[in-house]
Amino acid sequence: MAKKLTFDPRKLMEMAVDVMKASIREKRSDDTITPKVGAVLWKPDGTVQTACRGELREGDHAEYTLLERKNVGENLGDCVLFATLEPCGPESRNSPKIGCARRITNARIKIIYYGCEDPHRKGVNDIFFELVREGIANAIVHRDYDISGGKIQIMVEEDTVTIRSPGAPVAPITIEQLQSFSAPMVSRNPRLHAVFSTMELAEERGLGLKSMRTKATEAGLPLPRFSFNEPYLDLTLYRTAEAATHSLPEETRAQLSKSERKGWEWVVSKQTVTSTEYENALGVSNRTALNHLNKFTILGLAKRVGSGTATEYEVVS
Ligand SMILES: [Zn+2]
Repeated sequence: MAKKLTFDPRKLMEMAVDVMKASIREKRSDDTITPKVGAVLWKPDGTVQTACRGELREGDHAEYTLLERKNVGENLGDCVLFATLEPCGPESRNSPKIGCARRITNARIKIIYYGCEDPHRKGVNDIFFELVREGIANAIVHRDYDISGGKIQIMVEEDTVTIRSPGAPVAPITIEQLQSFSAPMVSRNPRLHAVFSTMELAEERGLGLKSMRTKATEAGLPLPRFSFNEPYLDLTLYRTAEAATHSLPEETRAQLSKSERKGWEWVVSKQTVTSTEYENALGVSNRTALNHLNKFTILGLAKRVGSGTATEYEVVS
């Protein structure tokens, strides 16, 4: 259980707003105005420290000043940070500078309050993070806790995030049903499931699979993929549309033309497509659509299901 908090978040955020006003504007060649930012660090002994942007040196962010100038070498693990603006992420700083978000995690600060979201935040795909959160919640709820030593693992790669959880799909659910996002509801850990449902982190009926499918499709991302690697169930989430071709074996990728790659990226966001759908989505002729889909089939990426006008092409996992 979390310890009872003994600070008043409103008071501390108001303090951060006051401190913010003392921020020092930087000179920028393009005349853009740098944001005013205030930060407050609450310490478990009840003391607080503050910093604003540019307080000690021009251009220094408030969080950096507070954590790494005013508290260098201190153990801040149980402190709580208040910032008027969402701390900058890794994508907003030019290498080798690191963003404040990373500095905060490096300091092992576990609780942070911020006033407003950074309207200039770049490179963050909110839907992708929702998918990751759902994948992790599913892993916690549905994993097999009897596999001793088995741990949920999250593998972050350039193109994918894979959530690996101990245990095969609960019988009679099959990998194929998971992959078609239509698995029936069978819970290995019904009590955990009930708790997560109450917290709205898991759906009461179903594995939240349909919502994963919908989110990926809406974001134009390849559909998440399930695979079983004894004794782990792997859920692979793709970070970008291009990730679907990046993660193909090199020899397969080399055989796809630029427009076929684009087509493949679309196909994997659908799982099953017809040639007419492909034609419309990619803006190509029906002959080209058939050629592309045929190529995917020959390369073993897709398989043909049905025949004649009812022919569909299904992504092979
Ligand atoms: Zn920053």
